[in-house]
Amino acid sequence: MSAAAAAQSTSLIDPYGRGIDYVRVSVTDRCNLRCTYCMSERMEFLPRSELLTIEELDRVCTAFVRRGVRHLRLTGGEPLMRRGIMDLVNGLSRHLKSGALKELTLTTNGVRLAEFADDLAAAGVRRINVSLDSLDRSTFARIARSDCLPQVLEGIEAAKAAGMKIKINTVALRHDNAADLPDLIQWAHGSGMGITLIETMPLGAVDEDRTDQFLSLEEVRLDLSSFWTLTDLPERTSGPARYVRVAETGGTLGFITPLTHNFCDTCSRVRLTCSGTLYMCLGQDAAVDLRAPIRQSQGDALLNAAIDAAILKKPKAHDFTIPVRGDAPAVRRHMSVTGG
Ligand code: SAM
Ligand code: SF4
Repeated sequence: MSAAAAAQSTSLIDPYGRGIDYVRVSVTDRCNLRCTYCMSERMEFLPRSELLTIEELDRVCTAFVRRGVRHLRLTGGEPLMRRGIMDLVNGLSRHLKSGALKELTLTTNGVRLAEFADDLAAAGVRRINVSLDSLDRSTFARIARSDCLPQVLEGIEAAKAAGMKIKINTVALRHDNAADLPDLIQWAHGSGMGITLIETMPLGAVDEDRTDQFLSLEEVRLDLSSFWTLTDLPERTSGPARYVRVAETGGTLGFITPLTHNFCDTCSRVRLTCSGTLYMCLGQDAAVDLRAPIRQSQGDALLNAAIDAAILKKPKAHDFTIPVRGDAPAVRRHMSVTGG
């Protein structure tokens, strides 16, 4: 039996008939920034002993690839802060070369991207998502709690020079960057990059009340439509984004609206934390520990059984609701733990 046929015969199908072919892997919960919507200023991180080693991350990713997963996205925390990250990327690139894996990508804050861009491109990373919430240095510094905009812009240039396709991710925040969004979109499109706007999700406790910052993307879209022509694109990834073309800039703009639109019917992804817990949904607590089966035996039988048990737990839809002032977050873990 060919490798593709073997993967087909053991592929991952959840109870609602959705095929799972996309895994997001958080390689660390640590970060060199402290974005206000993502983390509190003083975060407690996991002890290093809790983390999957680079070899264990490779093993679990490989098990997923053998079960038909075609897309792997490394994220965090900040993936480029994980020691040994290039060993992981270089190791996983063998699945790109064999054709088993269609895509190996990363979501990064870009601060260290200039250092890694050439090596990532050489390993076969063709696309990368860079999170950037403002082009104004002081606004960026206020949101990220760190004055790193120049490094991020340098990282973007380096990734472009290395031939990678870049998509910008921007969290829309009512007070901090709502007014900057048109400039950011124009800049991204003018530089040949796509951009996706994201609504803040109630994940983990942060220092601010998210109600103050929540900005519905429906409102943003209406505002943009008052001076630009937005045309819906049929293109849909397996993810939650909906896309439009902006006639005036010629670029593609995505909207991720987990709170105002439910996107779960076509969800094909699961998420692995840096300590080896597999979450079936960003907005639900259904989870299975994969670290114990990885450590209990050298063979993959236990690991595969745990993956099967996990997929059976994938919920039909997430539990997010628009945040109400003073409410606890819908999900207690931070995005940096589950992997955004
Ligand atoms: N550190 C990397 C980065 O910022 O791109 C990767 C991890 S970060 C958790 C992934 C994405 O999640 C980023 O685009 C970030 O803006 C987004 N994010 C983090 N917390 C969020 C929240 N509470 N609501 C919506 N998006 C969030
Ligand atoms: Fe770090 Fe990314 Fe969270 Fe910002 S969004 S604090 S860069 S993990």
